[in-house]
Amino acid sequence: MDISSILQGGYQHPLSRSWQAQRQLTKEMLMYPIFITDDPDASDIIASLPNQRRWGINKLQGFLDPLIRKGLRSVILFGVPLKCVKDERGTPADDTEGPVISAIRLLRDLYPSLYIACDVCLCEYTSHGHCGVLRTDGTIEPEPSVARIAEVALNYAKAGAHCVAPSDMMDGRIKAIKRALIDGGYGNRCTLMSYSAKFASGLYGPFRDAAGSAPSFGDRKCYQLPPAAKGLACRAIQRDVGEGADIIMVKPALPYLDIISHASRLAPDHPLACYQVSGEFAMVHAGANAGVYELRTMAFETVESMIRAGATLILTYFTPEFLDWLEV
Ligand SMILES: [Zn+2]
Repeated sequence: MDISSILQGGYQHPLSRSWQAQRQLTKEMLMYPIFITDDPDASDIIASLPNQRRWGINKLQGFLDPLIRKGLRSVILFGVPLKCVKDERGTPADDTEGPVISAIRLLRDLYPSLYIACDVCLCEYTSHGHCGVLRTDGTIEPEPSVARIAEVALNYAKAGAHCVAPSDMMDGRIKAIKRALIDGGYGNRCTLMSYSAKFASGLYGPFRDAAGSAPSFGDRKCYQLPPAAKGLACRAIQRDVGEGADIIMVKPALPYLDIISHASRLAPDHPLACYQVSGEFAMVHAGANAGVYELRTMAFETVESMIRAGATLILTYFTPEFLDWLEV
């Protein structure tokens, strides 16, 4: 056999196989999405999202203590208000007694080393379930939408969030949030992570069950990106870099690895996040339950594909499992 034919000599040992990756998954790369609800004692199973729960503020310590001991470094909080009065502009989003702001304060107190990001959107808090403020004809009105979203982001920063992450996909919101953070004195105290390329995906179903955030009419296709829109995703990424995003995100991850790869070239000097969303997570579980593959093998394979594509930060519901799996 020719010398040039032989590759296997280079990866015949487990250690030399690990050297074939340009980057390895580490605990620092994992951000765990957590649902916080307004019943302080809640520990509610979410049927469509395996092993995940809606947590009340009084249950957070019992839930997180073991994960912190295993090396959990960061979380992203999603508010799930079940009792509040929703209105047109999402007033309860930054209620100082609401679940998100209460959770930020508590977690800052309990875990000084835990990095706390907050999803910023209005849909969980608006009466119509859309991510912005609407005109009477039901279309998004951009200016009041971004003004309100920036206000919420600043209030999360004031409560102690290390990072605010707008998922609303309104035009101009990154600039508005960055301005609000700077003017409010948080420009150098809070990171802005943009859901830059967020696609109108079929993979958000379990999340909507978890967060109760399905729109009451219509859909989100006028602000989330069409799945085939690579050019639009590139423009959104470049725009958000220009508007002051500190971290860029692609969401969902697995069907959009090409976008992640493209984003890593478009924004090579920014951390690049991707969100392994609820439906992707449920899909990996469903396949494992059906005997198609082993859960751990496929969890690693999906996340490693994201890292290979260029992601440096991964939001995943598999975080608790990875904290165990990366131990050995
Ligand atoms: Zn939303």
